[in-house]
Amino acid sequence: MPLRYTKIVCTIGPATSEENMIVELVKAGMDAARLNFSHGSHSEHLQRLKSLRKISEELKINISVIQDLPGPKLRVGKLLREPLKLEEGSIVKLSNSPFQQNDQEIPVLFKNLSKLVEVGSEVYLADGTIRLRVIDISKEWVSCRVELGGLLTTGKGINIPKAKGDVSAITEEDIEHIKFGVQNEVDYIAVSFVRSARDILRAKEVLKGFNSDIPVIAKIEKSEAVENIQEIVSSCDAVMVARGDLGVEIGIENVPLVQKKVIKLANLLGKPVITATQILISMLSQPTPTRAEVSDIANAILDGTDALMLSEETAVGKYPLEAVRVLARVAASTEREMVYQPKPVIDAESVEEAIGRAACQVANAVKAKFIVAYTRSGSTARLIAKHRPMIPIKAFTPNTKVARRLSIVWGTESFYAQESANAPLPDMVEEHLKKLDLVRQGDTVIVVAGMPTGPVGSTNMIRVQKIEK
Ligand code: PEP
Repeated sequence: MPLRYTKIVCTIGPATSEENMIVELVKAGMDAARLNFSHGSHSEHLQRLKSLRKISEELKINISVIQDLPGPKLRVGKLLREPLKLEEGSIVKLSNSPFQQNDQEIPVLFKNLSKLVEVGSEVYLADGTIRLRVIDISKEWVSCRVELGGLLTTGKGINIPKAKGDVSAITEEDIEHIKFGVQNEVDYIAVSFVRSARDILRAKEVLKGFNSDIPVIAKIEKSEAVENIQEIVSSCDAVMVARGDLGVEIGIENVPLVQKKVIKLANLLGKPVITATQILISMLSQPTPTRAEVSDIANAILDGTDALMLSEETAVGKYPLEAVRVLARVAASTEREMVYQPKPVIDAESVEEAIGRAACQVANAVKAKFIVAYTRSGSTARLIAKHRPMIPIKAFTPNTKVARRLSIVWGTESFYAQESANAPLPDMVEEHLKKLDLVRQGDTVIVVAGMPTGPVGSTNMIRVQKIEK
């Protein structure tokens, strides 16, 4: 496989649940898997998780599993006849009911809809393809005029861009999902419809209640999240630009610049960032992508994304493997033209940050083959990756969870490695590199570590290591 720094996240769904398909996805370039808890049962997700762990073990590749929570997404209840045609100018009633009673009613799986809107509010259905305007409100229903008609089916999402009230991003249902995630040791928990840092802190509090510190991904898909982006990125462990709902909430014309802004901030703070949704949507039914999709992928990479995520393309699409191969090819080709441009450090007094930046400079100056980080928490590898050195990062860690979590970090390949009481760290690293057949005599690698080995955050050493024999 050609050298590639950008990571690929695949949503595992009905099209890719079989073990042989997961093996092929990994061989095609999948680095991390997303389990979307808006769809499928716990037993289906558990089966997928077990297959992922087994295959990752067999192929000796660390793969993170991201549990994506549904959050407070409003959905259309069960329709009598499908699709329901909504004509422009007609009046419909959104009701607090799981089942539709007549053609003028749209059932909504949420009890307090009337508290979220006011007369004049816009309501979007089916990924923003249908637009309603609220004209009357009662306790049980919300009456709307259809401004932009279309076809509606059961389960479609409902977006209210300027919803009133304080809906928590973590619902009771999400807490049950988190419990499942903790019990089965997922690697990341992605929180949907985050509005402020409070939502991230709430997720971390719930995790703490289950005795867990699984890292949290903030999905940026609300206008409030865009307003509060600094505090959100500072408080979470990783970010996802969730362009589907984001496009409905802030208008699709605003997505490209918000994407750039979120990626730039995440890069600066050294937090992995995933760009998601409609990456290769035409490949749901076609074996090749559009030029526009390929350009969008290349631009997200040039913006600085750590990872690109496929959703329906791999969950239910006709060409999941082809989609992953296209991503891998476009990434490798785009990266060939990228040059190393170090980023500022955010804490001028942080030794770890200074070392991360300096390691990239030294590695480029001596044309090192790899930058090797010995890292307990993964933080050293992330602080190196943030500068996009355009040199592969090999992370060695004594923590298997950290090894898996690093699979979404730009340019980083991770390996499990125990410290040895007998060998000094650089020797131990060299030994591992040789065993993995990654180096030859004459290669130069940069080793970054904490010496003597100590607590997390004790990184204090950069060594230029020439492989002598
Ligand atoms: C999105 O909205 O872009 C997204 C990734 O979230 P979901 O697929 O959960 O709607």
